[in-house]
Amino acid sequence: MYDIIIIGAGTAGLSAAIYGLRAGKKVLVLEQLSYGGQIINTPEIENYPGIKNISGFDFATGLYEQATALGAEVKYEQVTGIADGAEKQVTTTEATYSCKAIIIATGAKNRPLGLDREAELVGGGVSYCATCDGAFYKKRPVAVNGGGNTALEDALFLSNYCSKVYLIHRRDTFRGEVKQVEQLKAKENVEFVLNATVTALLGEDQVEGIEVTDKITGEKRTLQVDGLFIAIGQMPENAVFAPLIELDTAGYVVAGEDCKTNVEGIYAAGDCRTKTVRQLTTAAADGAVAALAACAYIG
Ligand code: NAP
Repeated sequence: MYDIIIIGAGTAGLSAAIYGLRAGKKVLVLEQLSYGGQIINTPEIENYPGIKNISGFDFATGLYEQATALGAEVKYEQVTGIADGAEKQVTTTEATYSCKAIIIATGAKNRPLGLDREAELVGGGVSYCATCDGAFYKKRPVAVNGGGNTALEDALFLSNYCSKVYLIHRRDTFRGEVKQVEQLKAKENVEFVLNATVTALLGEDQVEGIEVTDKITGEKRTLQVDGLFIAIGQMPENAVFAPLIELDTAGYVVAGEDCKTNVEGIYAAGDCRTKTVRQLTTAAADGAVAALAACAYIG
């Protein structure tokens, strides 16, 4: 019997674990892949208060080590359902665990572009992670698609060693930080392709180029690139909770800043819940809020 079961070992989940453990609670963290969540793939974090510069990997590892040193039990199992009752239950592919409170911190996964053969060419030129795969493209031309912070960071990271980086975005203004846009503009090997979308992947078993369509003129253009890094945002993965927990139409858990869901004693923290600002700081803050709410609920 655990006090709190946290589903997801990203920034929100591990922050919740730290707060729950420091309040003396017995905490189990369930994670289907590996600890760290999305931030583990971010080359550089420069906007977390108090830390001038850190890689996503070091940040996530620090969080993980902090939580486990405090006594967090972490199991790598996929959650298949949750149940409410006198005791709450979390079922995984391996077992069913009982607890007094649940914190859903499942984050979100990469959104695909939906191109023909996109899934097939992952590992053959299509990537969702510049930090993981960028090194394969040293001195080669690549494209990044997206206009948020992830796309900007990926383009900056890749511009340090790729011969050419095309940054393709569907509008002419960026959602990501102005500072990074300015840094990219100053790079000689970065070319902005704005008001444009990627409409086809060229090449058989390996990406040899991409077709880009101008959204205003409809004109098509081929970019000779060896890699396409897709960074067009995330999608939540909460379908497994739908029988019990209210989700919005996009699949995010409906919960406010207090992280409370429609079920008492079940909380949602971080990118998996309805919110307007999805940042590391807000994920960490949600972890604290949800864990302290769970502690108050347990009593
Ligand atoms: P995001 O902010 O949601 O941006 C997604 C981008 O992809 C947007 O520019 C969007 O265009 C574009 N897009 C969405 N669907 C598309 C489609 N089907 N085709 C073409 N373009 C499409 O996603 P993100 O950059 O992954 O960032 C997610 C969250 O993490 C954000 O809150 C971000 O600030 C945060 N983040 C923080 C850090 C950090 O703190 N260091 C690092 C990375 C990310 P529109 O702009 O036209 O909608």
